[in-house]
Amino acid sequence: MHTPLCGHATGHPREYAAEAVRKGLQEIGFSEHNPMPAKFDDWRMDWVDFTEYLRLVEEARAEFPQLPIRLGLECDFIPGKEGWIRELATKAHFDYFIGAVHYITPDWDVDNPLKLARWKDQPVEEVWTKYFNAVTQAAQSGLFDFLAHPDLVKKFGHRPKGDLRPYYKDTLDAIEAAGIAMEVSTAGLRKEVMEIYPSKTFIEEAFRRKIPILISSDAHAPAEVGYEFDRAVALVQEVGYRELSSFRGRKRVSVPLG
Ligand code: ZN
Ligand code: FE
Repeated sequence: MHTPLCGHATGHPREYAAEAVRKGLQEIGFSEHNPMPAKFDDWRMDWVDFTEYLRLVEEARAEFPQLPIRLGLECDFIPGKEGWIRELATKAHFDYFIGAVHYITPDWDVDNPLKLARWKDQPVEEVWTKYFNAVTQAAQSGLFDFLAHPDLVKKFGHRPKGDLRPYYKDTLDAIEAAGIAMEVSTAGLRKEVMEIYPSKTFIEEAFRRKIPILISSDAHAPAEVGYEFDRAVALVQEVGYRELSSFRGRKRVSVPLG
């Protein structure tokens, strides 16, 4: 979940925590878009706000001692910036680092609505191939505990025709080989695609490989905490999952589902 520090989310972490308690969630976690050493784009927290981020999460923890509140970061995987991610990991007692791919080239974050026109420049197959190549690299980097929204590239509904498994395969193999988990995010239900990230086919292929999962809302406002979790739980149970993952001090623990 996010905080106002990224510039596109609203609400103090205490409001997210209050909503989580109201909805009966057993734990929550904050994972703001990671700061970069220098100005990078306009949708992440600035490095100068990092201590403020820690302070906001501590405030929520102090006010809701009955609710475990984990500390994480949603880190963009950018080739060449691996050292910075490693350095960030030493800056606080993190519970988890999420590897996220938004950028498929240095200037195109594929989920950015301001860059929708870019989709006309190249075939959807090429964009999808680039996207999943980047997610594969993120899995192989060894920097992350789990991956965010594995098929975010579908956000606006751009999708190749036919069987999508060839696009997914290398990414799934890399996640399995890395021994990391992946997110099943209800955020996609709030976007044009109106579908959970990742697709049911992707989740089925993950289950076949025994890849651990967790369910997230990617809340950018208190009301989005636990958004449509019933649908996500039903989906992963239908596929066969009986456990979810939780992260403490960057160690994964399994928790029974349901
Ligand atoms: Zn965000
Ligand atoms: Fe993201």
